[in-house]
Amino acid sequence: MKRRSRVIVQTAPRRLELRELPIPDIDADSGLLRVEACGICGSDVEQYAGVLPVRFPLIPGHEPLGIVEDIGDRAAARWGVQPGDRVAVETLIPCGHCRACIEGRYQTCRGRGGMFGYAYVPLSHPPGLWGAYADYLYLDPHAIVHPIRKDIPPAIAVMFNPLGAGFRWAVEIPDTRPGDTVLILGPGQRGLASVVAARAAGAETIIVTGLSRDARKLAVARELGADHVIDVEAEDARVRVHELTGGHGADVVVEVSANAAEPVAEALHYVATGGRIVLAGVKGFKSVPDFVSDLIVVKEITIKGAFGVTARGYDAAIRVIESGRVPLERMHTHDFALEDAELAIKTLAGEAAGEASIHSCIMPSRVPSAGAHP
Ligand SMILES: [Zn+2]
Ligand SMILES: [Zn+2]
Repeated sequence: MKRRSRVIVQTAPRRLELRELPIPDIDADSGLLRVEACGICGSDVEQYAGVLPVRFPLIPGHEPLGIVEDIGDRAAARWGVQPGDRVAVETLIPCGHCRACIEGRYQTCRGRGGMFGYAYVPLSHPPGLWGAYADYLYLDPHAIVHPIRKDIPPAIAVMFNPLGAGFRWAVEIPDTRPGDTVLILGPGQRGLASVVAARAAGAETIIVTGLSRDARKLAVARELGADHVIDVEAEDARVRVHELTGGHGADVVVEVSANAAEPVAEALHYVATGGRIVLAGVKGFKSVPDFVSDLIVVKEITIKGAFGVTARGYDAAIRVIESGRVPLERMHTHDFALEDAELAIKTLAGEAAGEASIHSCIMPSRVPSAGAHP
């Protein structure tokens, strides 16, 4: 009898259902992953709400971690992995041939028609298992996998994704160096990951801002290595940044707050002359009020956008995870069974009463909670 995989299928905005699909045969160039954990982030919330431009039905889940169940000979040689190895899988599956790919910007590859990657390919595209809200995931010949040690708890190992973003956004793009002061706007999982990355890069002083309701996240930021935290509702953040930096301002500002446009305008006031600002928090395509562009001119500020993560960021993240030096478990708040996917997304979105998520994941082998749906 053909083996089957349980999957969560999204059929429309805010509609998820549990199904079973046949597990495909793989060829010499592809593989099959048994999913241990799938991290969830703001993109899962947007996908659930129907904000992302995707074609339904599809299987969500773009942050897969798992065990190589089956692999073709050529894929095994190319990736350097064997059945039984644990790998972190990158979201995007680049074509390898387009201009973006050959120039090394594969996170912007559109060579396979639109954005091609896990959670974004419809079920109708064979073999269908393109999302990690599932027992099994198809490993496409162009998938990018990173081996990671098996003795680390899956809820921690799956943090390769937010941590990879932290390394790319807070270190690689702004070229953060030892001695720099790094100011991180927003204490969500990407902000906390930026703290870990900036610390690993040798930043001298790390400051994190948040709102009054973020008190717990700001406390976690301190545990992960932030030197100072600022509640922007209780304090004058411009004055505090001025004091904490001896009037100099922050060498690097990383903007990772969700939805709010104000921090983008404020970043121009916090940054040092000649400093760098990285914008990575999306704002629903709102414009930014009180954006004083003259500050960019007179302070010679560099502003860069950050979208996605690259293999270099993931490799740095995996090294930190494997080092065991950082108390990453302080970031992890929830893991959910496959049947609880909807609850997982609502908890992350802050729609579940009394529950506040920082880092959450779905673990297909977990037993569902009572009353789980779909
Ligand atoms: Zn994500
Ligand atoms: Zn490409």
